[in-house]
Amino acid sequence: MKSKIKKFMDLVRQRNQFEPEFLQAVEEVAETVIPYIVNKEIYYGKNILLRMVEPERVIMFRVPWINDVGEIVVNRGFRIEMNSAIGPYKGGLRFHPTVNLSILKFLAFEQVFKNALTTLPMGGGKGGSDFDPKAKSDGEIMRFCQSFMGELFRHIGPNTDIPAGDIGVGGREIGYLFGMYKKLRNEFTGVLTGKGMSWGGSLIRPEATGYGTVYFAQSMLETRNDSLKGKIVTVSGSGNVAQYACEKATQLEAKVVTLSDSGGYIYDEEGIDASKLAFVMDLKNNKRARISEYIDKYPKAKYVEGKKPWGIKCDVAMPCATQNEVNKVDAKKLLANGCFLISEGANMPSDPGAVHAFQAAKILYAPGKASNAGGVATSGLEMSQNSLRIVWTREEVDERLQDIMSNIHENCIKYGKQDDGYVDYVTGANIAGFVKVADAMLAQGVV
Ligand code: GLU
Repeated sequence: MKSKIKKFMDLVRQRNQFEPEFLQAVEEVAETVIPYIVNKEIYYGKNILLRMVEPERVIMFRVPWINDVGEIVVNRGFRIEMNSAIGPYKGGLRFHPTVNLSILKFLAFEQVFKNALTTLPMGGGKGGSDFDPKAKSDGEIMRFCQSFMGELFRHIGPNTDIPAGDIGVGGREIGYLFGMYKKLRNEFTGVLTGKGMSWGGSLIRPEATGYGTVYFAQSMLETRNDSLKGKIVTVSGSGNVAQYACEKATQLEAKVVTLSDSGGYIYDEEGIDASKLAFVMDLKNNKRARISEYIDKYPKAKYVEGKKPWGIKCDVAMPCATQNEVNKVDAKKLLANGCFLISEGANMPSDPGAVHAFQAAKILYAPGKASNAGGVATSGLEMSQNSLRIVWTREEVDERLQDIMSNIHENCIKYGKQDDGYVDYVTGANIAGFVKVADAMLAQGVV
């Protein structure tokens, strides 16, 4: 088995030598999916996984724009159209200086599996730019978004490719992108998700990724007749996912004690309750300030500069910041402190060393492609509402989201339960996602 995986990875590595994050994401899938497909006759000679690691299309383009002092700035734009076997390409846009082909290909690859897990008809894609939104004026953000859409519009459409937000792309950016798309196409369609409520958005979409991550944790706890009540939770990040993970966990009577940003983390032993979270939301979403300001308002809390919150004692950890934010050393600290549940809100936040440590310790460990699928699932619900030209209530959307998350959890158990009863959610998510996409690809022939 090991040699089969190695042979496959050698081939993928040869072709994608300078893409470490992409190779990391592929290897994790190969390790779990290859052992599953070797005994299945229907996959013989079809090279399905090899076809899945090759994007259907990669679009790379120049994004020139003019900053507030009149200089011309040039950024690079991307859209990876990874797989459309089960639906149009679907996935977010990330605006962050670290964005490159490797990062977006890993995200697009993960998105294919994640979207399949939601059971909604969505293929996988991802895009973005190395543009850094930090400290940019509103006018600069708008001009950048308009230039970005000035090229992207010819590649996307409500039945072709439907982008959304990710790091650095929230409601404001989706608004500017949508406005430009509509102007260029002269069409009002559901081409983007994460839209404002008065122009085609869905209730619960802003909350969905964070809520979904907590719902998934709840399902995992239920397998041990346990609940979130009274649990100490560490959350990293302070953006959209972290904020709503914190909100839902608190509503379910857990105590969230940390949040972070790229500068460091805050530790509030008394818990970040609803009113403290409202302060954080205003700080991050309106003032666009640093999390360190939390301690000016709540001096009993601590701010730790340049560090991540994984050394803080907790029962449950929810990494909601970015890829590879938890390494093997962090994982060992979490385990030594008694953490027994990880529900990932970010995409691939645990590096392979951390994942293997969690698996070896047999704790409840949910990979992002399962536990953070609530965001894109609710994007799927936004698309359904756009097509039907109706708006569902908060309760309706939330109920569907909860159903989808518990369905994903069931599917992970179906494909991930080991002989000793331990549920390997990584294996479960990868195989469940793979089977759905692979079967569609088999049916559609070599295209
Ligand atoms: N960027 C989110 C994700 O990683 C959401 C994508 C979407 O809604 O299309 O799944």
